[in-house]
Amino acid sequence: MAQVELKALQKAWDDAVAVQDMSLTIEDGEFVAILGPSGCGKSTTLFMLAGIYMPTGGEILFDGTCVNEVEARHRNVGIVFQSYALYPNMTVLQNILFPTRFQQTPDAEKRAREMAEMVQITDLLDRRPSQLSGGQQQRVALARALIKRPNLLLLDEPLSNLDATLRLTMRAEIRRITRELGVTTILVTHDQLE
Ligand code: ADP
Ligand code: MG
Repeated sequence: MAQVELKALQKAWDDAVAVQDMSLTIEDGEFVAILGPSGCGKSTTLFMLAGIYMPTGGEILFDGTCVNEVEARHRNVGIVFQSYALYPNMTVLQNILFPTRFQQTPDAEKRAREMAEMVQITDLLDRRPSQLSGGQQQRVALARALIKRPNLLLLDEPLSNLDATLRLTMRAEIRRITRELGVTTILVTHDQLE
């Protein structure tokens, strides 16, 4: 778990500024939603928190320590991408295990099965993503984001690809799971209802 602080965070490309002067403190274990229209810099902000993009200004602090220079795989941040980004040629179980491939993780498979249980996909572990519904893919992406017990969980419009009924179910599920794990969570969305 981590407290997260953004200090005057900025991301500029040659032709555009995606994030400008963003400052925010999120307490350890807090669940925060960031709401904004398409193109306002939500995904860019999450990519900087995950270590996928390097900020062009400002600082990101985890528990008071600047992590700007820390590589993605050393940040212990779990992310569910907007498109889920599952690996099509791997089974569900292999997808969930993927984040553990670089590091010796004791009991990785046991943990993967626990996460699968938490998101209720234990009967799908041998399938491939193409054999899953949108909601099932989303659960796999969530299990994959959680396998390394992340200090911070990032959810990029996690419900936008789901039908209305499933959106309600998954909204409650996400809340239950993040509460149960006590993980600091940032969800971004353009959907005011969400
Ligand atoms: P959101 O997730 O809120 O819809 P994004 O963070 O994806 O918005 O994008 C914010 C802005 O940054 C947009 O104007 C987008 O076109 C621009 N942008 C995003 N990624 C890149 C990139 N790799 N290169 C240049 N501009 C980008
Ligand atoms: Mg986005």
